[in-house]
Amino acid sequence: GASVSLADLEKRYDRTNAVDGVSLDIRSGEFLTLLGPSGSGKTTTLMMIAGFETPSAGDIAIDGTSVVAMPPYRRNIGMVFQNYALFPHLTVEDNIGFPLKQRGVPKAERTKLVAEALELVQLPGYGGRYPRQLSGGQQQRVALARAIVFKPRLLLMDEPLGALDKQLRENLQLEMRRLHADLGITFIYVTHDQEEALTMSDRIAVMNDGKVAQVGRPEDLYDRP
Ligand code: ADP
Ligand code: ADP
Repeated sequence: GASVSLADLEKRYDRTNAVDGVSLDIRSGEFLTLLGPSGSGKTTTLMMIAGFETPSAGDIAIDGTSVVAMPPYRRNIGMVFQNYALFPHLTVEDNIGFPLKQRGVPKAERTKLVAEALELVQLPGYGGRYPRQLSGGQQQRVALARAIVFKPRLLLMDEPLGALDKQLRENLQLEMRRLHADLGITFIYVTHDQEEALTMSDRIAVMNDGKVAQVGRPEDLYDRP
């Protein structure tokens, strides 16, 4: 997986310092969670790493190279969001194959990679269905497959399980852990759910008011007697 280095990162809007001096080194292959209340700057930080927002100050380096001037598609990052809509008019197979098509991967290779991705998210045989024929959890697993099918070195996730019920959320948390262990991709995961952060992360960066208030392993941040 990729290493990611955030240095004095800032994002100012008219009235708000959405991100107010974040420095963080994320190691290759790490599962790092940004945890914090609504409005603490988690999504803005993620959007700057993805390249959809431009920092007001500071730097972002992926594998030691500054990406601030690089357009999103060139950063080769996978992404999953809470309401990351699948294309409703495309089958599961075509949804997952979309990023491959964008990258000019030939049809035969696409078919093979899509089948592998469906295996990974435990939906083999679902390639011919349409999104509306799937449950919420299945749709989110298809979104996950689409995010990893082109073998990115970095996966960004913003509350990907937020819209799901508790049981499904817990199942998918385990699946995220398994995928992370299998793939060796660096995961940066955003949530406001402390329990979720504790269950899944190698390390947690606690955000508050646009700043990182604390960083540490789950057991170091919250030692429960
Ligand atoms: P979180 O993901 O932790 O909920 P956000 O990064 O979404 O936090 O937002 C951090 C702060 O920046 C909030 O106060 C939010 O209202 C503000 N903010 C986010 N995006 C914009 C925007 N496009 N314009 C103005 N303010 C914004
Ligand atoms: P959940 O309780 O997780 O939301 P659903 O009730 O949406 O699940 O779906 C349960 C099962 O039925 C899933 O395996 C899903 O693939 C299947 N299913 C739901 N809607 C359709 C449909 N329109 N056509 C085919 N299969 C469907």
